[in-house]
Amino acid sequence: ILELSAVAKNFGGVQVLKGVDLRVDKSELVFLIGPSGSGKSTLLRCCNHLELPTSGHILFEGVDIAGRGVNINTVRQKIGMVFQSFNLYQHMTALQNVTLALRKVAGKPRAEADAIGMAMLDRVEMAHRAGYYPSQLSGGQQQRVAIARTLALDPKVVLFDEPTSALDPELVDGVLQVMHDLRRSGMTMLVVSHEMRFARDAADRVVFMADGNIVEQGSPDRIFTAPSHPRTKNFLASVL
Ligand code: ATP
Ligand code: MG
Repeated sequence: ILELSAVAKNFGGVQVLKGVDLRVDKSELVFLIGPSGSGKSTLLRCCNHLELPTSGHILFEGVDIAGRGVNINTVRQKIGMVFQSFNLYQHMTALQNVTLALRKVAGKPRAEADAIGMAMLDRVEMAHRAGYYPSQLSGGQQQRVAIARTLALDPKVVLFDEPTSALDPELVDGVLQVMHDLRRSGMTMLVVSHEMRFARDAADRVVFMADGNIVEQGSPDRIFTAPSHPRTKNFLASVL
């Protein structure tokens, strides 16, 4: 469904992505790991047009979305993203956050947007907090609202950039539970995270990145128990 070929990204003179090839199939959960600064966030951001690659191609359902002249709104509707910092609007309720893009981008009338929004909040077990403002919610609840907001646009792929890293430990499981449910529903997911337990339980494939390149990839079982590259071994020794 998503196919990156030779994706490179420079910031100033620094090459942060050095020709990445990566394929994510429909309903697959690909788990991306690597040291800080290896380019994981940049790779995700290229996939939903928050950054433009310097060169290379990103095919989504066969169409190259890496260049200028693609419809950014369409790309972001079909390839949703969930951030570490939730990025909810503080002056809007949970429901208003979830329905904003439905109304402004997808052009749905209020009643229809609200119905979809409530269904999405229900999916992440947050329907009972629809009228709450972000400041009245825990971090884990805010992240679940942010996931509902992404799901509201009916994306074909969801990118997660460290969705649980900003949360207190006791709030992590609720968010991972929602991600498990999403995976079971057949969603295609590309996940950057340090939750190796989640990777073992839910990932189809683990991809290890270092210095802007994919160093190795394989099943969670293989990567965690028998990594073949010394850099992967070193990294896993430091995080497991
Ligand atoms: P982390 O695990 O810390 O989140 P990461 O693997 O997500 O790291 P990126 O955020 O993709 O890494 O950053 C890769 C490199 O690109 C870093 O050296 C970073 O400083 C640089 N970089 C990222 N965004 C920009 C930017 N907008 N301008 C300049 N340099 C950037
Ligand atoms: Mg990052």
